[in-house]
Amino acid sequence: MATYLVTGGAGFIGSNVCRELLAQNHTVKVLDNFATGRRENLAEIAGDIELFEVDIRDAEGIQPAFKGVDYVLHQGALPSVPRSVKDPVATTEVNVNGTLNVLTAARDAGVKRVVMASSSSIYGSNPELPKHEGMRPMPISPYAASKLANEAYAAACTHVYGLETVCLRYFNVFGPRQDPKSQYAAVIPIFVTALLKGERPTIFGDGEQSRDFSYVANVIQANLKASTAEGGAGQAFNIACGNRISLNELVRELNEIIGTNIDPIHTDPRPGDVKHSLADISAARETFGYSPAVDVRQGLEKVVDWYREIVDQG
Ligand code: NAD
Repeated sequence: MATYLVTGGAGFIGSNVCRELLAQNHTVKVLDNFATGRRENLAEIAGDIELFEVDIRDAEGIQPAFKGVDYVLHQGALPSVPRSVKDPVATTEVNVNGTLNVLTAARDAGVKRVVMASSSSIYGSNPELPKHEGMRPMPISPYAASKLANEAYAAACTHVYGLETVCLRYFNVFGPRQDPKSQYAAVIPIFVTALLKGERPTIFGDGEQSRDFSYVANVIQANLKASTAEGGAGQAFNIACGNRISLNELVRELNEIIGTNIDPIHTDPRPGDVKHSLADISAARETFGYSPAVDVRQGLEKVVDWYREIVDQG
């Protein structure tokens, strides 16, 4: 059994990762400042984890959390493209400077490997599909730029300090505990909660934009496999399902699962959003045996059940 530090462990992905680590009997530490994460996400497991409530921008303050840690799963960040368009400096300070603090603290503590959350947004305006890791990244938002900078620092730290790093380029992730209420909420929580309330979801643009949505269990699997794999150090890998659906299709699927027949409202496209997204996931499969176990339809069915309870509770 190993000791894992999950940064951003109070967030959507981080809190799900923590649950799986505990289920596998690992020791789990969480580092979070609750900027976008929520205490409720950790409520049931609070007694089983060690919590470090600190900001990753605090280079010294984060150091105690890394003591005795084998693997760091770095999920902590200010996510969201629109947030970064509104406040690019805050996004950069947390995502880039904060990440460099995490990397140097991991180096100083002798951590075996840091697995870091990157993003499909780094491919940006490069139109080639499917997205593969050999393509030139062309970020079109400050958020995407921050994630690309992270990858560069991760590779540099592997090179100059011998710190093993692996970056995982998540495509659109969804699952339980993804915040439906934030001003910057992601599309699936917004659509599901709208439909469950009998309201019309809003789509930015014509709805023909497509995404390679991935249920969170697939991302958890990728983190765990990447942390202990032999190879992959200093590299970045796509993590998704390898299929895409349009937002119009997503609304249709959700209507079917929920048993509603509600048409979306279409408004102007959002700046910084990419039109299509689809991942080639063969590199992760070949390097550390990643294989998505839950497809989009199965994931949507699970997530609808989870949001139904939230909506019923008001
Ligand atoms: P989230 O907002 O739920 O989680 C991020 C966590 O980081 C939160 O708990 C937040 O409080 C914490 N955090 C933010 N600023 C911090 C700081 N200064 N110090 C310490 N902790 C801080 O978002 P998420 O969807 O769970 O995203 C997790 C990671 O995955 C992020 O790095 C995000 O950029 C990346 N990612 C997510 C998706 C997705 O579809 N959800 C896609 C691509 C990449």
